[in-house]
Amino acid sequence: MAELKILFATSEVAPLIKTGGLADVSGALPVALRAMGIDVRVLVPGYNQVIAQLVNYQVVATFADLPGFPFAHLLSGTMANGMPLLVLDCPSLYQREGGPYQNTQGHDWADNALRFGMLSKVAAELGSSTSPLAWHPDLVHCNDWQTALTPAYLHFSPGAVPSIVSIHNLAFQGNFPPETVQQLHLPPSCYGIDGVEFYGNMSFLKAGLFYADHITTVSPNYAKEIQQEELGFGMQGLLTSRSGHLTGILNGIDTDEWNPMTDPHLVRPYSSANMSGKAADKEALQSSMGLNLEPDTPLLGVVSRFTDQKGLDLLLEIAPRLSKLPVQLAMLGSGDAQMQKAARDLSHLFPGKIGAVIGFSEALSHQIEAGADMFVMPSRFEPCGLNQMYSQRYGTPPIVHATGGLVDSVVDCTAATLKDGTASGFMFDGMTAENLYAAIQRAVGLYHDTEKWEVLRKNCMAKDFSWQNSAEAYRAVYLQVLGR
Ligand code: ADP
Repeated sequence: MAELKILFATSEVAPLIKTGGLADVSGALPVALRAMGIDVRVLVPGYNQVIAQLVNYQVVATFADLPGFPFAHLLSGTMANGMPLLVLDCPSLYQREGGPYQNTQGHDWADNALRFGMLSKVAAELGSSTSPLAWHPDLVHCNDWQTALTPAYLHFSPGAVPSIVSIHNLAFQGNFPPETVQQLHLPPSCYGIDGVEFYGNMSFLKAGLFYADHITTVSPNYAKEIQQEELGFGMQGLLTSRSGHLTGILNGIDTDEWNPMTDPHLVRPYSSANMSGKAADKEALQSSMGLNLEPDTPLLGVVSRFTDQKGLDLLLEIAPRLSKLPVQLAMLGSGDAQMQKAARDLSHLFPGKIGAVIGFSEALSHQIEAGADMFVMPSRFEPCGLNQMYSQRYGTPPIVHATGGLVDSVVDCTAATLKDGTASGFMFDGMTAENLYAAIQRAVGLYHDTEKWEVLRKNCMAKDFSWQNSAEAYRAVYLQVLGR
């Protein structure tokens, strides 16, 4: 018998349906937990894309009389990789043209409270003694606001198991008008500060943070930051009061998908023992981005959503100054129209020195991680961040702002950290263009010290960012909550 049985409730799971990092975690963490002998089953809504990719499924339960919710089936099947899935099949809520949260015009679905209220309600049913399934989880693991109402429902359910809520993005909270409490058949008494109320609204995320037995977020440093006003998005008071039940666990990365030795997107694979391929990848990148073919000029890479969060405004601001240095810049990204225009304008102003591709390209993102000498990620805030981990794995030291998961995954290069073998990038404190510029200058200075640069690259490539470590940490949280 499995040591632990976990219901992992989520609104997206890669590769079936993805809008962001939550899908990556939902696709990878349960697989890593299963590899450790934990019986994890993933509960997701039956969007068209999910049903279409579900293998060997059958109806295992019917929800005909959940008060306030439409009729639904629960399907059991597997993903192509063998991961067991429970799919909430409710066509009137989930089978639509558009995204999981928004219609094709980019507007939130008007019935999102009902859609994710039902997902949360069903997760709670499966974790209580009224569950229609023979399989009973020991604990329900909820993720972000869309399933964060589960702990509230569990609180009022018979024979409920404990629950945890993981915060992947505190900025999205699922806040709805107070009448939603009645619509979703929660007891009126839970609408208060000690319950689901959040500044005059009912909040899915607040509910989860209040009722869950434990809270996790995607890096230890972000766990501290969200308890303060600056990054707490109004939840800092509650999070501080629950700090004894709040754990930060750094996400892992997919080390097969991001492996410079086997990456099919590269012209020449390479490894820490033989870096010669990286030079060929640099030349290919320079060529495809319209940069001068200069093997010894340090090449800075960027792959990012163009938003305020990512802090690229600072890089765009200092780009004209950078172009006076022997430095090149290769940027890939999309988002904010003004930033897109600024990036494009820079590439026209400084041809051969600055290259910009506006759009989304999986292949080019791999080629930048490999072909660049350094990776720039000046995020204002960053719950975990993935690109800084990819870049280290590719021997491309990241230049990062000291925030969130960047602090937990990058070690600033100093004489001491170079000596003790931990240095893996360059970090700046204080979100100013000047500080970013100074960090880039530090990186460029070290780049020309070939021996030290070699040490730094090797440190980066030796780091272990696999899911294994994170999965161990989640197991420890499960056991702690269950008192085992
Ligand atoms: P966030 O999830 O906040 O956007 P992360 O660093 O955690 O930031 O992850 C971003 C992911 O999206 C990475 O896998 C990154 O490579 C990818 N990505 C972002 N923008 C692009 C783009 N324009 N083209 C290809 N991949 C991109």
